[in-house]
Amino acid sequence: MIIKNAKYVTSAVKESDFLTDFPEICFVGRSNVGKSSLINMLVGSKGLAKSSSTPGLTKMVNYFLINNELYFVDLPGYGYSKTGKKHTELWSTLLENYLLSSENLKMVFMLVDIRHEPTELDKLMHRFLFYHNIPHKVIATKADKIAKSKIFNARNEIAKALSLGVADVLAVSNLGYGKENVLDIVENIIK
Ligand code: GDP
Repeated sequence: MIIKNAKYVTSAVKESDFLTDFPEICFVGRSNVGKSSLINMLVGSKGLAKSSSTPGLTKMVNYFLINNELYFVDLPGYGYSKTGKKHTELWSTLLENYLLSSENLKMVFMLVDIRHEPTELDKLMHRFLFYHNIPHKVIATKADKIAKSKIFNARNEIAKALSLGVADVLAVSNLGYGKENVLDIVENIIK
């Protein structure tokens, strides 16, 4: 799939703001896992999805229209706040409402860091998606941070921790590694 154009459309702060006009693929994961970097890498634009350093945006549901036919949706990160304190809730109500109520949601890309075993929250999110029958794929980010020869093993470890097969875990880097694999999935969803 070739992404010809991508534009930011809106940010939802409550359920009634959610869009409904195109199929949606969303990106979920703990704060700083690399959601905005992955979206930017896929669309080939450094600044489209703002990084976690932008206050506010990280708590919203951000919609990007791709090729005028589908949305990439950047969801609020879960896990740790910027100050390192634990959030009082597991993940935001807005995030949960989005996952449970979006009728056009075709795929959740659940991001984990390739260097670490999925956290307890990652495991919980994965079970949540499974339990609610929400289509999902796991994407291991920051693949450039480990040797190429170790990528397969790292994917395998993540897969085992989530009771998946290694083929269910893709690896990506914001330098471009894995881009085509992710875009192939996107293409299959919309055709
Ligand atoms: P978000 O909070 O999940 O949207 O995370 P960001 O995309 O803002 O990334 C968090 C940090 O990780 C930033 O400093 C990024 O530059 C860095 N980062 C994200 N993806 C990669 C990657 O593939 N490789 C490397 N080396 N750093 C990355």
